[in-house]
Amino acid sequence: MGRATRAIIDVSAISQNYRLAKKLAPHANAVAVIKADAYGHGAVRVALAMEHEVPAFGVACIEEALELRAGGVKKPILLLEGFFTADELLLIAEHNFWTAIHRLEQIAMLEEAPIATPVNVWLKLDSGMHRLGFDAKDYRQAYERLQASDNVADVVLMSHLACADELDKPHTMQQAAYFDQAADGITAPHSIANSPATLAWPALHRDWIRPGLMLYGASPFEEAQANADQLVAAMTLESEVIAIHDLQAGEAVGYAASYVCDKPTRVGTVAIGYGDGYSRSAGTGTPVIVNGQRTRIIGRVSMDMCAVDLTGLSEVGIGSKVELWGRQLSINEVARHCGTIPYTLFTGVTKRVPRHYI
Ligand SMILES: *Cc1c(COP(=O)(O)O)cnc(C)c1O
Repeated sequence: MGRATRAIIDVSAISQNYRLAKKLAPHANAVAVIKADAYGHGAVRVALAMEHEVPAFGVACIEEALELRAGGVKKPILLLEGFFTADELLLIAEHNFWTAIHRLEQIAMLEEAPIATPVNVWLKLDSGMHRLGFDAKDYRQAYERLQASDNVADVVLMSHLACADELDKPHTMQQAAYFDQAADGITAPHSIANSPATLAWPALHRDWIRPGLMLYGASPFEEAQANADQLVAAMTLESEVIAIHDLQAGEAVGYAASYVCDKPTRVGTVAIGYGDGYSRSAGTGTPVIVNGQRTRIIGRVSMDMCAVDLTGLSEVGIGSKVELWGRQLSINEVARHCGTIPYTLFTGVTKRVPRHYI
């Protein structure tokens, strides 16, 4: 009943992609990164399905971590952006959250916190991205302060890569060299690798990898890459044809009449638009699958609908199934047509779109 637009989430595909990450980095532990509602896939559902094989989950902030606890997730949860205010530390200790620490004020707050159980800390080095983290010159001192505090349990040395998806750039190895110099002489586990580094930079696997995007079956790379090519799409975004118009050459489709038919064209209206998170940047020519056949978007995507070219497709009609991305059509290819990355498409799927778990 009702509107057919939905995102079908195959949680076994997420587990399969997680196992690929583990296989590629056999000596590392793997935090499953499920921030931003597991990149739009539903963090609680994903976490509960993976919990038996995942030592810890990664989210951005405590609000996301508390949502997982409320949903029954028991494993440790790493706050990748750390904490913002001292009052969070009570909850961090109470719920066995692990926290990134990226500046001195956070160390002071942690030293002073009236907590009964010590907290695991991931001490962040800014190795060149200049987003979060200590400089090399302050890093050892920060580590020693943590070591001296009764409120601190284990410390992991972490950093984040800016360019690991670009395999021919020198930045990644420069960041690694900076990290190794800052960490020299500190005996603690290392964590550097996000999805692209898990897939393509084995020297950076170290002790803990932090795969995110790859778990959902999208590639972080623009080009084909042998390991990324083994990923399995976890989300299929689909809808259906709800109207069909046979237009003559010269007739226009959609807002701004921007697409004008150059020949007789069968146009299908599909019940999905940017209000569902299907990008308005998906212009004419963006691939879609209708009833198993590849065709294209024509004209402007509107809030609740978009138009597809049905000309010459066999056995399509009202109710024909439309896949916007998923098993038959890679989200990477759609993202390329939209001038964006799969991360924004995944996280942009709105709450109007019901998630169906299989
Ligand atoms: C989001 C995030 C990750 C995961 O990145 P992907 O590119 O999605 O694999 C890893 N580490 C940190 C610190 C992050 O913020």
